[in-house]
Amino acid sequence: MADYYDLLDVPRNASIDDIKKSYRKLAFKYHPDRNKGSKDMEDLFKEVTEAYEVLSDPEKRSVYDRYGEQGLKGSMGAAGGFDFSDAIEIFMRDFGGAGGFGDLFGGRHRGEPHTSRKGQTIKVKVPLTLIDVKRGTTKTIRVSVLGSCDSCDGTGATEGSGPVACSACSGSGEERHVQRSVFGQFVSVSTCRTCGGEGTLIDNPCTKCRGDGRTRTQKEIEVDIPAGVTSDNFITLRGEGNIGPRGGSRGDIVAVLEVEKDTIFVRNGMNLGYELPITFSQAALGDEVEVPTVDGTVILTIPPGIQNGEVLRIRGHGLPELNGRNVGDQLVYIVVWTPDNLTTDQEEIFQALRNVENSAPGKIKRELQKSLWSRVKEAFT
Ligand SMILES: [Zn+2]
Ligand SMILES: [Zn+2]
Repeated sequence: MADYYDLLDVPRNASIDDIKKSYRKLAFKYHPDRNKGSKDMEDLFKEVTEAYEVLSDPEKRSVYDRYGEQGLKGSMGAAGGFDFSDAIEIFMRDFGGAGGFGDLFGGRHRGEPHTSRKGQTIKVKVPLTLIDVKRGTTKTIRVSVLGSCDSCDGTGATEGSGPVACSACSGSGEERHVQRSVFGQFVSVSTCRTCGGEGTLIDNPCTKCRGDGRTRTQKEIEVDIPAGVTSDNFITLRGEGNIGPRGGSRGDIVAVLEVEKDTIFVRNGMNLGYELPITFSQAALGDEVEVPTVDGTVILTIPPGIQNGEVLRIRGHGLPELNGRNVGDQLVYIVVWTPDNLTTDQEEIFQALRNVENSAPGKIKRELQKSLWSRVKEAFT
């Protein structure tokens, strides 16, 4: 991977503010929602986010400055894996509330201050069908959330006792280790393992929550999902997530939308593709047939002489635009079906037909040589 400073286009002595500004600009530029889900852009988004995650953290930045990417092995999440969802999460954490864009509503703000004791964000997958996408919907999600312990009122202490300074870190919440290496001596700082970074311990912990101040409860939350969403969208429910330890504020719940693959239609943005097999006689003579759409069946007129691979359009039966007024179409891909098991009667008719057919088939339109339907399927599955 390229140099983090180069990736973010900042000098090596850039301030945190400069780093943040530059990252924000690049992240918005590369964000998959602005680039029709382009894989290259997705990779760039991931790379600048990884660079930002390191350079915006003074501790990680100093390690990177001294030892490069190698020095950070193991500190970038489990098994060194930094994937696209990590990148999205970091982007949302720092910019999600300020018009982050996969986020449909920018989050319901409760005006809570950001503190180090803020509880964790909970991600919940919300499966959706095409009908949900067509009409918009409200889904009830069930989440297991850490809430304030009612036995100790969230303090973590039994009545009459209270927090005392942690003796392991003298209340600082940090452990310092001095390490010597070929590069000289450096101090690494990590979270105190005794108090978990709180700086205090409970001398007589609440028995119900074991001093944590939190207990787990099941919560049901309704999420309004507008029409036209895609699997790139998420909805942040601010202040609905886990409460922070011992009186901390609540984190968020992020509803990650997942539009399930449909068995009948293939989605291409606002349009829906549908494959319609027809017979020789329907193709030659034309017909009126019932065709399913995402909102009920319609009668489709097949013009006489239609060719295999031609596309008919049913206007307005696609999906609506998110936060817009436009509606896509249903594209019907015609597949002329060849009978493979003729009865004696049918065979006689085909024989007779062959005798009156006057020539070899006409030239097939170039664009139909490869079925559009198969091209669409290649592109979107
Ligand atoms: Zn308790
Ligand atoms: Zn401590």
